[in-house]
Amino acid sequence: MTNKLIDILGLMPYEIEEGLLEMDEQAFRGKQVVNWLYKGVKDFDNMNNLPKTIRKKLREKYTIAKVDEIEKHQSDNSETTKYLCLLDDHNIIECVVMKYRYGNTLCLSTQVGCRMGCSFCESTKQGLVRNLTVGEMMGQVLLANTDISEDNESEKRGIRNIVLMGSGEPLDNYDNVMKFLRLVHHPDTLGISYRNITLSTCGLVPGMRKLAQEGLPITLAISLHGSNDEIRRKIMPVASAYKVNDIIEAGKYYFEKTGRRITFEYALMDHLNDGMDNAEELGVLLKGFPCHINVIPINEIQDGLYKRSTENRIETFTKTLESLGLQVTRRRELGEDIGGACGQLKRGYLDVPGNSF
Ligand code: SF4
Repeated sequence: MTNKLIDILGLMPYEIEEGLLEMDEQAFRGKQVVNWLYKGVKDFDNMNNLPKTIRKKLREKYTIAKVDEIEKHQSDNSETTKYLCLLDDHNIIECVVMKYRYGNTLCLSTQVGCRMGCSFCESTKQGLVRNLTVGEMMGQVLLANTDISEDNESEKRGIRNIVLMGSGEPLDNYDNVMKFLRLVHHPDTLGISYRNITLSTCGLVPGMRKLAQEGLPITLAISLHGSNDEIRRKIMPVASAYKVNDIIEAGKYYFEKTGRRITFEYALMDHLNDGMDNAEELGVLLKGFPCHINVIPINEIQDGLYKRSTENRIETFTKTLESLGLQVTRRRELGEDIGGACGQLKRGYLDVPGNSF
């Protein structure tokens, strides 16, 4: 019987060094392996400063998570690139690179599918298939980094910011996500600052409170999308479990513990949650709480139930929030021409006859 191989991309640098010591090799060999991995090398045989004997031992003990690009779509203005990636078990995930003034941002997936059932979201249509491993999350960052540096020498800095907003609810894959955050922040891997990482949740209150105690100063983004429980229940099944007030209380607790301002995501849907009364209700709920509201005109998905708000309603909603003293940003609408709503591109791919895995 063969032993199951360990995904080396899911290990902390010290765990890799320990692994090398267990093979009766020196710890510095572990450092060399880490270097290769975070340069994007996906085959032990290409780690050419390691003796062949060590490469053989590595192959016998470890594997490197497979996250292979199968399609790449660039927006017309080249500022957004969406990657469709194939995993070892033939599942498909996606991640998106967005170019901002302050550096490249990667939006990555944390699960295959999602069980949260938000009715405006394509990713949840098939339910939760499985959690992504630590290595598969890291694999998305390395794929994007490699592609960016191949694409343009001046962009060698690669990914600077990470947002966990692709398919999946990060707090529903809690342990793997926590390890991934610690790993991607580690100075021997990619050293991404916690302050440049945003985790987005649909409002899993216990997970938010647990996250507050982790001591990681990342930004927490809460997908609110409704100014009261009734609206939220119409569009997000999770609203039956957690009330708006409890979510905001958990957000305040997060702020107290970490000092990090909460971002509230609010996707505007025509005549559902985009009225002036909704903006006023939000103003009352968030009064005096140092937070930020991202207003996002929704991308209409295939068979979508909801319509995008008119420009007029978007503007009135935003202005009302501002007049109530709230900090509001209308989110830059990225990648609409390449399937901006999460899960959309994957579905488009699978809908083409012959494109199944
Ligand atoms: S919006 Fe996020 S939490 Fe909701 S179903 Fe989609 S992926 Fe899951």
